[in-house]
Amino acid sequence: MISVFALCTGSIELDRASMLSDLAPGQPWTVPVLSFLVDHPRGRLLFDTGVHCQARLDPVGRLGPERVKRLTVKSKEGDDAVPQLARLGLKPDDVRYVANSHLHFDHCGGNEFFPRATFLVQRPELDAARRPGFVPGYSPSPIDFEHPLDYQMLDGEHDVFGDGAVVLIPTYGHTPGHQSLFVRAGKQAQMVCASDACYTRDNMDRDVLPKILWDASVMRDSLATLRTLRDQAGATMFYGHDPAQWQTMPRVPAPVI
Ligand SMILES: [Zn+2]
Repeated sequence: MISVFALCTGSIELDRASMLSDLAPGQPWTVPVLSFLVDHPRGRLLFDTGVHCQARLDPVGRLGPERVKRLTVKSKEGDDAVPQLARLGLKPDDVRYVANSHLHFDHCGGNEFFPRATFLVQRPELDAARRPGFVPGYSPSPIDFEHPLDYQMLDGEHDVFGDGAVVLIPTYGHTPGHQSLFVRAGKQAQMVCASDACYTRDNMDRDVLPKILWDASVMRDSLATLRTLRDQAGATMFYGHDPAQWQTMPRVPAPVI
């Protein structure tokens, strides 16, 4: 029996046009940051670790002066990965695997709190992140991911437990090695956590990319792959930062599937 729980691990205010590039700039928008906890008989996997708790208290110190010009952390106390897991009765050591969709600050800020987990990250993502400036437009903060952690680098699709139930799928484009999470919890229960390969339902329905991306044509291909999973395979799609969808999603202790 597999269950998946959605956790809100922060919230951020930014310009809506940064997420939907065909909109006029100047509309502030508050979006949730999501993590997902997958409970599989052979262990638990946490998909993304959210915003670091310190970013709320010291945004300039934690995020740097450039980032705080573009966004404001709106998280409340307890809106980060460790207290959110506690709402499920779990501690960090109860998590066997952590998978980071990518290494932007709002997806790996809590990595350091999982020192015993095995981290599953795509090789091009970690390679690029460890060489600032190597990939133009992509320089995540080492403070978020560069800790003594057990990073296992993946080359493309990865079946985490070997039974096809929990699969990391490469959805490169937003960053050099972005990945999404596919879960099959039964014949009729398939879901995908797109993370930032698709910020909102609007991005997928209208085929609009965000402004923040590494490679537009690669990202468009990944978006098409995800759309096929949603529209042809019938998977439930959870978008990376969709406030309207978050309002409709079951909250812990209820599972999303
Ligand atoms: Zn994000």
